[in-house]
Amino acid sequence: MKLIDMKVATMGHNTLVRLITDEGLEGYGEIERNSSYTKPQLLFYQQHIAGEDPTNVERVMLKIRRLGAFKPWGSAVSAIEMALWDLAGKAAGLPVHKLMGGKVRDFVRPYSTGGYAPLRDQSPEAYAEIVRGQKAYPEGFTIVKQGVGWHSGMPKEVPNFTYGEVRQGYGHLGKGLLTEQGLDHVVACIEAMAAELGDEVGLAIDCGPGWMVPDAIRLAKAVEHLNLMWLEDLITGDYSPHVTASVYREVTQATSTPIHTGEQIYLRQNFMELIEGQAVRIVGPDPMDMGGLRELKWVAEYADLHGILMAPHGGGDGVFGLAGLVQTCAAMPQNYIAFEIPQCLPTWWKDIVIGLEAYAVKNGLIEVPDKPGLGIEFIKDKAAGYLGAGDEGFFD
Ligand SMILES: [Mg+2]
Repeated sequence: MKLIDMKVATMGHNTLVRLITDEGLEGYGEIERNSSYTKPQLLFYQQHIAGEDPTNVERVMLKIRRLGAFKPWGSAVSAIEMALWDLAGKAAGLPVHKLMGGKVRDFVRPYSTGGYAPLRDQSPEAYAEIVRGQKAYPEGFTIVKQGVGWHSGMPKEVPNFTYGEVRQGYGHLGKGLLTEQGLDHVVACIEAMAAELGDEVGLAIDCGPGWMVPDAIRLAKAVEHLNLMWLEDLITGDYSPHVTASVYREVTQATSTPIHTGEQIYLRQNFMELIEGQAVRIVGPDPMDMGGLRELKWVAEYADLHGILMAPHGGGDGVFGLAGLVQTCAAMPQNYIAFEIPQCLPTWWKDIVIGLEAYAVKNGLIEVPDKPGLGIEFIKDKAAGYLGAGDEGFFD
């Protein structure tokens, strides 16, 4: 079997890749939410995979992995890797989890991120209210996450919050030391959420990037009594094109609160220092930025060897990311906690994709589907109506 074409399109918040073979099989992958500017990157790799047998996934990846980097380049490499596994699974008549080593678990745990729900303001009461809503979701999530500090509206909306620079948008540009009032406000909001959730639902906190080391340590110690799931991305985070493991190690060694990072990091090699240096307690790679599904499995196994836990980031925030995460997390070792559930918005995705209902969350868990590949398929005539301008030939 040979790859004869690769097509790229925007649909909703996602950029999609479609790999087409000479035997009529096709595979799909997608790039992280709001990354429609990654189309040119995807198309760059087209020339390097043409004519390859897509079922030799690693052989194809050897050609393009070295031409990647932190996002947006790694996002494109990752989307192609996912589409290759979709194709390889369909060609073998097996679900992707079988190609990843098979099911370690029949049910995979996701967690809920409330970052897209509107907070009415930045008060502790508003934060308590929003996790009350998450706790009541019909999916029955057992872990919920909220953003605070540099990963929230606090720098802009809370008076006298920081001595640093408040810059919003374009991938978390704000950074700096917090005032005492600012830090107290963050702690008060976390305490309000923890009190609301009680000990029935775990609370994870997304923090940055942008924290200074003294603040990061003060925060982590101040919330030790709350038994948080983790503090995420204090030092680096989304769109940081580096790892900074030694700085994370300072924070991790100073506290019993688990420290988490990794969503922007490309390739297993760039996790080595974090893992071997015990710089974090939990890694959170995104399969759609790190180089793909097998890369995620690799890092989960290497983290497990070092006593480090795994809680992956939300894989493109779309339907293929959801399928890829479930299929891969099913085959992870027992350091697996939960993955961040993609929002799969707008809601019309469920009208144009078959098989999505098998990925529904029930009682806080997703039963791992057994259909070949990623187990979801477009209803092409319906889906074509949602293609971005200029992408009309995507399904031809
Ligand atoms: Mg995050």
